[in-house]
Amino acid sequence: MSCHPDKLPPTCSEAERAAALQRFHLVDTAWRTLGDEASRKEYDARQTEKEMRKPWPLNEKVHVDEMDWQEDEEVYSYSCRCGGEYVVTVKDIDQNVSIVGCNTCTLSIELVQGGSSEVQIGNSVQPT
Ligand SMILES: [Zn+2]
Repeated sequence: MSCHPDKLPPTCSEAERAAALQRFHLVDTAWRTLGDEASRKEYDARQTEKEMRKPWPLNEKVHVDEMDWQEDEEVYSYSCRCGGEYVVTVKDIDQNVSIVGCNTCTLSIELVQGGSSEVQIGNSVQPT
């Protein structure tokens, strides 16, 4: 860097020295800004990559009531937009399974089971 203030010949004036110093700071700041931008871009790229790697992209929240009860198999099913199905067994519901994967693609739904516990509380309060 030819304009570095430390490398000016001792014969130069105060004004020349000040100008050189200022020029050096400008260049220095520009470099720092460029560096920040590069590292931020790299950070963003890494974040995006992390998003893409999520194994189960959540499609939507589905309440158990919205699912179809399959009497023969004793399971609840819900159609996926890919044409496949989300299948929830009664056991799954007992165990409060909340994320259900599609049987043909990588999408999944969040199973919502609100309501049933409230009914139980209501029943227990009922006089016998
Ligand atoms: Zn699917």
